[in-house]
Amino acid sequence: MSARRELGRGERVLPGLWRLRLPLPWPGVPHGNAWAIASGSGVVLIDTGYHEPGSLAQLERAMDQVNLRLEHVRLVACTHAHSDHWGQAATIVDRAGCEFWMHPNHEHATRTAGDPEAALARRLEVARQSGVPRVAIERHIERLPRNLASGIARVIEPDRPLVSGVEIETDLGTWTVCETPGHAPSHVCLYQPERRLLISGDHVLGRTSLFYDFGWSPDPVGEFLSSLDVVDGLDARLGLSGHGKPFVDVHGHIGSSRRLARSRLDAVLASLDGQPRTALEITPAIHEEPITDRNAAWLLSETLSYLRHLECSGRVLAQKDGEPVKWELVPGASARPPRPPTGACPQP
Ligand SMILES: [Zn+2]
Ligand SMILES: [Zn+2]
Repeated sequence: MSARRELGRGERVLPGLWRLRLPLPWPGVPHGNAWAIASGSGVVLIDTGYHEPGSLAQLERAMDQVNLRLEHVRLVACTHAHSDHWGQAATIVDRAGCEFWMHPNHEHATRTAGDPEAALARRLEVARQSGVPRVAIERHIERLPRNLASGIARVIEPDRPLVSGVEIETDLGTWTVCETPGHAPSHVCLYQPERRLLISGDHVLGRTSLFYDFGWSPDPVGEFLSSLDVVDGLDARLGLSGHGKPFVDVHGHIGSSRRLARSRLDAVLASLDGQPRTALEITPAIHEEPITDRNAAWLLSETLSYLRHLECSGRVLAQKDGEPVKWELVPGASARPPRPPTGACPQP
C-alpha cells in the first residue's frame, strides 16, 4: 500500500506573494514550493511542481485556497529544470496561454525528459563508474517499476532565456535574475532588492541539503560554491526556497551550505589518505546514512562531484585505465590549501 500523500496547500506569505505547497512522490521530500506573485490583473508563477496524474488538480487546489486560478497566470518562470520545479510548465502554459521563461542550460533535463530509459542509462553509468558491483546494478534494474516516470508533462522551449540581468516585473517590484549553477546547470535565483526577497530554488534551502547534477558541466561543486558567493553578495533578508518554509538569516544558511560542502571535500581527501578508492568506497566517509537503491544515484553523484572538484583543483587523480575508476591523492596535495578551479578542466 502506498503512503498517504499530502495535498496541495496555498498560503499568503506577504500581501501579493503566495506559497503554493505541492505534493511530491519522493520519500523524504514530501513537497515542493511554487510561488505566485501579484502582477497587474494576474500573477507571475515561479516554479510549477512535478507532473503526474492528478498533479494539476493539486496546483489548482493550492491556488484556490488563496483565491487564485490557473487562468490568472501571466508568466511561468522556473528556477531550474528539475522535474519538481518545471514538470507542469507545459500544462500550465497550455491553460493560461502565457510565456515560459527558463535558463538555456536545460539540456541536463530536456535530453532525458522525453526518454526515461536514457535517464536510467545515465544513472547506471554513474553507478558503474563509481564501482557499484554489476550484480547490484542488475538487481536494481529488476526492482524498478516498468513505467519510469519523468515527472515532465512535455518538453517545451523557453520563450525567453532566464539569464543574469533579466528582470521580472511584479506588483512587489522588479525581480532580477542571478545565474546560480551548481545544484543544476540551469539554476537561477530571483532577487527583489527593495524588499530584500530571494527566491532561492534549491540553491539555498532552509534545511541544508546538497545535490549536484553531475556530468553536465565541468565542475558542479566549484560552480555551486561560486554561486553561493553570488547570493551572499545580495542583501536578502527572506529566503523563499524550492522546499520548506520561508526562512530568515539568508547569509547564515548560505554559510551552512558552504561549510557542509567544504567539510565533505575534506572528508573525501581524508578517506583517500593511504590508498586509491572508488567513489562507492569513499561515499560512507561523507554520509552517515547507508547507500540503498533509493539514494544511490544522489549520493554517488555527490561523491563524484567532489572528486571532480578536487581533480580540477589538482588535489586528486583518477586512475582512468582501471575499471571501476579509482581515485588517489596527488602526492603532497593534501597539505596544500585548496585552489579555485583553473578553468582548464575538460568537459566530462
Ligand atoms: Zn532541484
Ligand atoms: Zn527541488
